[in-house]
Amino acid sequence: MPGAVPDVTLNNGVRMPKLGFGVFQVGDDEARAAVATALEYGYRSIDTAALYGNEHGVGVAVRASGIPREELFVTTKLWNADQGAARVEPAFERSLDKLGLDYVDLYFIHWPVPSRNLFVETWQAFERLYAHGRARAIGVSNFLRPQLARLLEETDIVPAVNQIELHPGFQQSELRQFHRGHGIATEAWSPLGQGAALTHPVITRLAERHGKTPAQVVLRWHLELGNVVIPKSVTPGRIQENLDVFDFQLTPDDAREIAELETGERIGPDPEVVGEKPSGFSSKIDPSIT
Ligand code: NAD
Repeated sequence: MPGAVPDVTLNNGVRMPKLGFGVFQVGDDEARAAVATALEYGYRSIDTAALYGNEHGVGVAVRASGIPREELFVTTKLWNADQGAARVEPAFERSLDKLGLDYVDLYFIHWPVPSRNLFVETWQAFERLYAHGRARAIGVSNFLRPQLARLLEETDIVPAVNQIELHPGFQQSELRQFHRGHGIATEAWSPLGQGAALTHPVITRLAERHGKTPAQVVLRWHLELGNVVIPKSVTPGRIQENLDVFDFQLTPDDAREIAELETGERIGPDPEVVGEKPSGFSSKIDPSIT
């Protein structure tokens, strides 16, 4: 149902849907089909990345949808190999070319790669793209507190969003609190724990109690915490199911039960080390590096 997804207002006034569609590990053709389905069901926000190799398919689906561009919210990300003042703009132009768009709604630095120490100058190049209206908002992904602190200290624009691993098993309460204190929106990647969160007995019991599915309970939990979510699926029934989370509410007791599922364990890689090894800069990367 178009228009059903509420927005969050980012720190620069731009509105972003609180629930979008992720396309990690989806090839170009499959992305085109999945994004077309998602847009038909009412998603308006799509999250891709240069790394995913499907910006072309995403762009084809977006442009073929007939939905006015201003009603869509398209996010992509700069890959690690393209950090550095001189590389950002050409990489951004390549992404826009593949998408077939004139601007993106949100552009991310995909990983901080602290060992290369290029993220500050990379962010300054992002500030220039923003100033020229090429990206309506700019943000970071997988940034830890020390890297956010450096941007706050050394650059002009506060990131609009930090997109981080976040699911019931890894809830990131400290980083979320830091974001809140600085006007940075928290966006959850792998919001369903790549499916792992959905079989936990607490989640399945809550799903039964609310007459919803485990995925819907987990997505609702995120939304009630104030997280933006971008669940991924290529299965039409699940794509539709993941959007149908605006007709119920969790109780404070439900939220307390889910809070106890924190394990302190990531399922993805540690942002401190991603990109450290030269092999991490090639596109043939470890599939766990997302
Ligand atoms: P996710 O938590 O969204 O889980 C996706 C998996 O869960 C699917 O492959 C499917 O197996 C299962 N699933 C989805 N809906 C379901 C349903 N209704 N019922 C049962 N199972 C269901 O994991 P993800 O794809 O890793 O993350 C979502 C998006 O986040 C990605 O597509 C990508 O856009 C983004 N992401 C970003 C980064 C980053 O570094 N910035 C890293 C990983 C993912």
